[in-house]
Amino acid sequence: MDKPTPPSRSRSAFLIPALFLGVISWLLYRNGESWLRQVLLYLSNAGWAREMVSNWSISWRVASRFVAGSDRDAAMAVTRDMNDAGLLITLDFLGESCTNEGEAYQARAEILRLLDDIDQRGLNANVSVKPSQLGLKIDPNLAFENICALVSKASEVGNFIRIDMEDHPTTDATLDVYRRLRYQENLSNVGVVIQSYLYRSEADIEQLIEDGARVRLCKGAYAEPAEVAFPHKPDVDANYLNLSRLLLSPAARAKGVYPAFATHDPKMIDDIKRYIQVNHIPSDAFEFQMLYGIRRDLQEELVKEGYRVRVYVPYGTAWYPYFVRRLAERPANMWFFISNFLRA
Ligand SMILES: Cc1cc2nc3c(=O)[nH]c(=O)nc-3n(C[C@H](O)[C@H](O)[C@H](O)COP(=O)(O)OP(=O)(O)OC[C@H]3O[C@@H](n4cnc5c(N)ncnc54)[C@H](O)[C@@H]3O)c2cc1C
Repeated sequence: MDKPTPPSRSRSAFLIPALFLGVISWLLYRNGESWLRQVLLYLSNAGWAREMVSNWSISWRVASRFVAGSDRDAAMAVTRDMNDAGLLITLDFLGESCTNEGEAYQARAEILRLLDDIDQRGLNANVSVKPSQLGLKIDPNLAFENICALVSKASEVGNFIRIDMEDHPTTDATLDVYRRLRYQENLSNVGVVIQSYLYRSEADIEQLIEDGARVRLCKGAYAEPAEVAFPHKPDVDANYLNLSRLLLSPAARAKGVYPAFATHDPKMIDDIKRYIQVNHIPSDAFEFQMLYGIRRDLQEELVKEGYRVRVYVPYGTAWYPYFVRRLAERPANMWFFISNFLRA
């Protein structure tokens, strides 16, 4: 598998990362995990931190646990192996918040080639895209045109595009792109993502059920203010289960809704399993989704139990924000990062 060449690190470059990680560890010890999560989410967006951390070889060593490799060939190889283990895949060409049209077109060109490669190699994989990578923050019409080209191509080769959901200022524009594809362009091979941390999500899901949409339900990965999102995790979890019920309701199933439950949380997964068993919902009426590099044991266990499991496999060189959000979700991963650094 092709992995990006790790950046080289001189001895003199040891001090800055050591200091940085030392300060983070000390602050974590003093202030606790939820504080660290906020700091990491801030760092995931900070250009200066991206420049610094991307140049440490140790960063790639840890990030590569969550990223298939730097190019399509690496992603194809991982997909083949995981398909052989009974896992379905959704591939993500890493990148977000492009700053000019050219970058958005480059991402679109890469994803078009990706759809061809999946088709030619007969892989069981669909594709997830980030609207901001395709121009949403520059001009929603630019993102619409790019995503429309991708969904049209996917339709030609019998594939499916999932539009990932990003931070809350993009929610309306993202759902608007989705609706235009469904109703203006009559494309049905496209789905969206709803985040249980947002207060608005129940209303969005009710609307999407009316549309018979393919919805991925996740908890949400961005730093959001209390004006728009539940600040406390137990509320986010309770809403996740509430929304899962709506997506599995007889009304939703009658409309043809096909939900994807994206979580590594055993409590959510066990609860959904219990609910579908009690309500005699067939295991092919929905799927579980998890991220590459996280709980592979649980992914394979669910496959053995007869559930559909799709793994989100990112590839590319723009791994920094994706990687730091993964650290924020599980601050214990910081220790993995620090211990790798100390061993280097
Ligand atoms: C396939 C997929 C697609 C996603 N797409 C989006 C998207 O489009 N937009 C968006 O905002 N977010 C997305 N996310 C991220 C999601 O919103 C959460 O931030 C992320 O999944 C963490 O929440 P959780 O439910 O997995 O677990 P958490 O609520 O973070 O943790 C609950 C429990 O899950 C287990 N767990 C969680 N993480 C790990 C880990 N790294 N290793 C081991 N155990 C762990 C632990 O037991 C933990 O106690 C996606 C996630 C997945 C899996």
